[in-house]
Amino acid sequence: MTDHQFRNDRRRLLRGALMGIAAAPLATVSLRGSNALAQDMPKLSEDDPQAVALNYVHDATEKDDMREPGAICANCRLYLAERDAEWGGCTAFPGKLVNTNGWCSAWVQASG
Ligand code: SF4
Repeated sequence: MTDHQFRNDRRRLLRGALMGIAAAPLATVSLRGSNALAQDMPKLSEDDPQAVALNYVHDATEKDDMREPGAICANCRLYLAERDAEWGGCTAFPGKLVNTNGWCSAWVQASG
């Protein structure tokens, strides 16, 4: 590696690190903003056609015969709220809140 290449690589690395540091506060503000917005969203109705299509219920025990044992919104990868929040967003139902103890047939095990 030439001295010139070394300086260019170092410059690129520093630029990337600075961009990451600069972006971190923006990401935090964005996440907080989405949580605040989520609180203003309406709760998903079990009668909503999309909810019916995915067998959504506010209380997962109502679908014990359909779901994997222990599967609820709180441990679903598509759930967007704090795990202990009573209601939260869900990527399967944009703009609506689902119950943390709910379930639908789009459930996917959350990692970690
Ligand atoms: S996709 Fe997951 S979080 Fe969303 S309603 Fe279905 S089970 Fe709940």
